[in-house]
Amino acid sequence: MAKLSYAHGASERPLLGETIGANLAATAARQPDHEALVDVRSGRRCTYAELLQWSRRVARGLVAAGVDKGDRVAIWSPNCPEWVALQFGSALIGAILVNVNPAYRTSELEYVLRQSGVKLLVSAVSYRTSDYRAMVEEVRPRVTGLQQVVFIGDPTWNEFEAAGDDIGDGVLAEAEANLAFDEPINIQYTSGTTGFPKGATLSHHNILNNGFFVADLLGYTDADRVCLPVPFYHCFGMVMGNLGCTTHGSTIVIPAPLFDPVATLQAVQEERCTSLYGVPTMFIAELAVEGFERYDLTSLRTGLMAGSLCPVEVMKRVQAEMHMTEVGIAYGMTETSPVSTQTRAGDDLEQRTATVGCVMPHVEVKIVDPDTGLVVPVGTPGEVCTRGYSVMLGYWDEPEMTAEVIDPARWMHTGDLAMMREDGYVNIVGRIKDLVIRGGENIYPREIEEFLYTHPDVADVAVIGVPDEKYGEELVAWIKLRPSAPPIDAAGLREFCQGRIAHHKIPRYVRLVEEFPMTVTGKIRKVEMRQVSTEELELISAARTVTT
Ligand code: AMP
Repeated sequence: MAKLSYAHGASERPLLGETIGANLAATAARQPDHEALVDVRSGRRCTYAELLQWSRRVARGLVAAGVDKGDRVAIWSPNCPEWVALQFGSALIGAILVNVNPAYRTSELEYVLRQSGVKLLVSAVSYRTSDYRAMVEEVRPRVTGLQQVVFIGDPTWNEFEAAGDDIGDGVLAEAEANLAFDEPINIQYTSGTTGFPKGATLSHHNILNNGFFVADLLGYTDADRVCLPVPFYHCFGMVMGNLGCTTHGSTIVIPAPLFDPVATLQAVQEERCTSLYGVPTMFIAELAVEGFERYDLTSLRTGLMAGSLCPVEVMKRVQAEMHMTEVGIAYGMTETSPVSTQTRAGDDLEQRTATVGCVMPHVEVKIVDPDTGLVVPVGTPGEVCTRGYSVMLGYWDEPEMTAEVIDPARWMHTGDLAMMREDGYVNIVGRIKDLVIRGGENIYPREIEEFLYTHPDVADVAVIGVPDEKYGEELVAWIKLRPSAPPIDAAGLREFCQGRIAHHKIPRYVRLVEEFPMTVTGKIRKVEMRQVSTEELELISAARTVTT
């Protein structure tokens, strides 16, 4: 019988059986004077002793505000040091931190504050074009459970912190002693590319261990300085980044509040970062910065690329031109804390480019036939399922939706389509929904995108399917050209593809764009692209009907 697509990450390194607060305290005791956090923009820095002290002050502020264990405290802000202090401060007393996407607008904000029953909201005042204060004031009367709003960088933040100064250390110690590591500590609303956002509810155990093992596989020590242009509101920032660092005594470097490619390169150079995180589009933007070659990135040795598939060409440049020879690829989703598979330090280029690594320590992964639920033989595509310490507790207050994705045996069904190889490495071939069927042929957009990245004028590309009368679906390639490249049209692209990929895989339409519609976590919103292209193409065909 053929080997089945199942892998268990057996490991001699035990899981951490403690709360997030206890783990931070242990790191601070081990290396109090080591730098924990650097905010490049404001120049603020703190050591581990200072980070712990600050987090405890925030925890006391929460207690003074009437926040108890299990109460929900939301944070709505781009990356900043207060975000980190609140992450640890809330964990110290067992308050559940609700991460709110800074790209949300009022209706989404209202929805998540109400859905999770937030008692206290910590918000940015404003950033770039986002007037957070005005949006909070608009929503506030409609969220009845919301008792207090604190604005970062405003007197309300100082008052909030100071209000806790009379709370004795004993109160905090008692609160800490009453926590269990399996209790919920964080709610993250998933991207919500379709329908209402769902609040993935994660425990100390879920995220502390995931951060720990992600960083462990990258070989972090206290000598590592990790540049985090990825958002804290998502696991990539607050788990793989912040908890990855604090569990290993490494330094968190915040290059800018929101992603900025120039600020990222500057931060790596000035802070001598050893590791850099990003979704592939961030790396693409960094590589395209004017004068890229003038930045000294030689301090980098590792980093992580995750969140969507990394084009081979980009990976090659990241290793060669950004010196990230040990860069890892991670695959996962919010509901699994997030990482389920990751490449290993010794992996070769092929493993790092053709796969998303193999199963994480202590985690199980299997690939099943989505129709029958049976595990498929290696080399056969199917749905990825994950089980283990990393699977979320459930969607907040949505038991039915939870039951749709976590089966009775506690397997999380990811909705991602992948193949497991003989060596246990996993190759993502698309999302179950991201499959284009043209004339009965299954086409995985990923494959076409990889191919189009080899075009010399293409900086970035995303391929979608749109409805077509004759074939059912047709392919559209959205293309971002390299600076000063000549425009490409469908005929030019066809010529490039002809004879090199199968005819049915050649995109029928090309749309040149400056940007893709993105979620804050850097995922391309294919649903939105599909709508735009479908409407545009309908207009074209309507125009044709008139003129012929
Ligand atoms: P999120 O919950 O926002 O982290 O999104 C999770 C989804 O992102 C997964 O279900 C995958 O579809 C996709 N994803 C995450 N990491 C990768 C990766 N390395 N390669 C391909 N897709 C990924």
